[in-house]
Amino acid sequence: MAEQADSHPLIPSRAATGHTPSSLSVGFDMLFTAGIIVVLLASALMLVPAITGRARPTETIIIGTLMPVITLSLLSVIERMLPAAGPRKSLRSWLMHFQLNVFFFILSGIVGALTITGMNGLARDFGFTLGFIDLGFANGKGLLLVIVATWIAAVGQDFFFYWFHRMLHVSQFFWQHHKMHHMDREVEAVTAARQNWIEVVISTFMITIPLVLIFKTSGLKAWQLGLVSGTIITTFDMILHAGHANVRIGGGRTSMFWCSPQLHRIHHSLLPEHQDKNFAFVFPIWDVLFGTYYAPKPGEYPPTGVHGEKEISSFWEAQIFTPREWLKYLRAQKEAARRRA
Ligand SMILES: [Zn+2]
Ligand SMILES: [Zn+2]
Repeated sequence: MAEQADSHPLIPSRAATGHTPSSLSVGFDMLFTAGIIVVLLASALMLVPAITGRARPTETIIIGTLMPVITLSLLSVIERMLPAAGPRKSLRSWLMHFQLNVFFFILSGIVGALTITGMNGLARDFGFTLGFIDLGFANGKGLLLVIVATWIAAVGQDFFFYWFHRMLHVSQFFWQHHKMHHMDREVEAVTAARQNWIEVVISTFMITIPLVLIFKTSGLKAWQLGLVSGTIITTFDMILHAGHANVRIGGGRTSMFWCSPQLHRIHHSLLPEHQDKNFAFVFPIWDVLFGTYYAPKPGEYPPTGVHGEKEISSFWEAQIFTPREWLKYLRAQKEAARRRA
């Protein structure tokens, strides 16, 4: 399959995408990856006790922090054992994407924790209560209700994600940022967090803050709140990664209710008929409701990427990508205005 998709007329060969691995650079990449994981652990060990206000067993924090790293690695192994939907990444490209994911975990953890504590602090100081839908209703009423509460919050989160994501496509300005996620011609589980750091800042305003304003979790003890939010984040994250998996799994008509890898591959497609379709991540019903749903046909696994863009070649290039593209875009706009005048 990989060879077949590799030779697709719309896809440049791997040699043209700039990946020329050498054992020295792969060794360096592995070291760098280990370094980022250490930073992830260190930031969690410092941050968790500072935010929850109490000491936690070190093992719990380490296991909790490594969970997403481990699940992503497992998913990458599993996806290589199944028939591929398109070309697979070289080891070097996989490592670069893995680094982007781990860095994204670090940033989202820090920014998410700061936002929630900051907003709770503001609410306390100014005497208003946050949230009008109380997820605490599940408190003490058994696991099933906790799962229902988690699901409600995840579907709610997906509503905001849907509009956030659609905005990233509609606005030319924000597309300069989001296109890096789409430029991947070898979409795999690790593509999920192929993001510039600015993604965390924008999504805080468009997803985290609305969610904190809508949902509250009164009556839940700190550890329960940790468990619920941990479950929501892990579930959402897993769905996000599994949805990008390079596998031929579609789900037929059921993909209206869950984001199958095929459904999201359509979103990443190079083909014109797939443009601006399938934005949702947990609940594609949002796409059905707002008219952007595209039902994949059996065996429809299109090539992915963005025409006319040069692939990023390093972790660092990914970090400067958005500011660089914004600068280019604004300059071009200015130039166009000057010409019109
Ligand atoms: Zn998109
Ligand atoms: Zn995607």
